Amino acid sequence: MNSLLAMKFGGTSMGSAERMRIAGGICAGERRQRPVVVVVSAMSKITDLLLDTLRHAEGGDRAGMETNLRLLEERHVNACRELLPEERRVKALNEIAAILGEFRRIAGGIEMLGERPPRSVDEAVAVGERLSALLMAAHLDAEGIRAEAVNAAEVIVTDPVFGNATPLMEPTRQKARARLMPLIESGVLPVVTGFNGATVDGRPTTLGRGGSDFSASILAGVLDASDLWIWTDVDGIMSADPRLVPGARVIPEITYAEAAELAYNGAKVLHPRTLAPLVEKGIPVWSKNSFNLAAPGTKIVPQVGGPDGPRAVTSMGNVALVSVEAADPELNGSLVMSRALAALAQSNAELLAMTSSSYRQSFCFLIRRAELAAAMASLETGFSLELAHGYMKPIQVDENVGLLAVVGEGMRGTQGLAGRIFTAISRENVNIIAIAQGSSELTICVVVRREGLEKAVRAIHDECQLGVAP
Ligand code: ASP
Ligand code: MG
Repeated sequence: MNSLLAMKFGGTSMGSAERMRIAGGICAGERRQRPVVVVVSAMSKITDLLLDTLRHAEGGDRAGMETNLRLLEERHVNACRELLPEERRVKALNEIAAILGEFRRIAGGIEMLGERPPRSVDEAVAVGERLSALLMAAHLDAEGIRAEAVNAAEVIVTDPVFGNATPLMEPTRQKARARLMPLIESGVLPVVTGFNGATVDGRPTTLGRGGSDFSASILAGVLDASDLWIWTDVDGIMSADPRLVPGARVIPEITYAEAAELAYNGAKVLHPRTLAPLVEKGIPVWSKNSFNLAAPGTKIVPQVGGPDGPRAVTSMGNVALVSVEAADPELNGSLVMSRALAALAQSNAELLAMTSSSYRQSFCFLIRRAELAAAMASLETGFSLELAHGYMKPIQVDENVGLLAVVGEGMRGTQGLAGRIFTAISRENVNIIAIAQGSSELTICVVVRREGLEKAVRAIHDECQLGVAP
């Protein structure tokens, strides 16, 4: 079935009965043309609320738990009342109550333990998506579009890294096709929960925050969908964050590689891992705005016609630069580097950029500030002997930095581009601290002083004329 359309609705597109009606209208319109499978996020802010409730539970704060549970119930019950015709409400309200009961049971267990085991957290937070999928499927069905809510724990198979699991594509292909194809072939529209999955032996997992985009691309890939449309609340992928750069524009077409680089370097439109499952089959992705149906959106494709060159600039402010340096010249620099990277991997911190200098046997790398404490603990344990005996200098951390990344296919071919970027930054009197260019030459990363980050982003956007259609 190669005309299958996969669509994903994000939290704001599912944020209220009114938003769900608009999403439902989009589904209905497309369903008239071809088979559709839908992936939904939890209603906006619900995942945060669920996580917060579990923290209250862990701390034994019963009052905090109860307040949150009431909010949770209110939000979904109200949406249900506004969305569904009377004759369908009782059934849906019972289902909502059952799912909330499950959440309450897990939260109660966490309260008793005084601890939040990652696998219980994963089982509990998936409740947000189960509730929104239930509402959306019931709404579509009430509108005459046969639909069924499906828990992704039944279709997406992952490794057991709770909180940040990775899909196992072959088992997922088998399970997803076995569960979803019969529905699709009999004219039913599956509404699948985003964000979650389960291990081979059925333990619930999640794909990391913002993971519903990834859920949708996994399913689009294994179901051989012809397109994936990702509905958000912005007009598409932009040449820069419009809050920083007033002249930023929506990019009409962008390659998978560019979109992935942008996502990994802080652009918020797509979960960074989204594109990988689509590359092999070249399934195109549209990033669209459910709040502005007239906007064409951004099309993400294997290749884009037209001139190469810088296409967008992104930035990240919440980062830290960590410098590791050997004090003893007899220490093997490559070995130090490999051990540092192993320590980083152990802490699960993501390496955003790295530079090294061979002569001083030092190198530095950039990570998210949220991951700094875990990374430092892991590095200091890994090098405890060398640090204690002075073979290595104390590990330095600089939190007063920001990362910006200029992304574009074939920038290597654009002579003098790096020079222009650095000149534009210096013209603003912003200090450049480190520079890294990936071997793909798709991205130039520059670490600057934090207070100059926004200025530097605007200067580059201007210099490279990113706001102007080529
Ligand atoms: N609801 C999850 C989150 O807030 C997943 C998603 O929305 O993509 O992280
Ligand atoms: Mg999202």
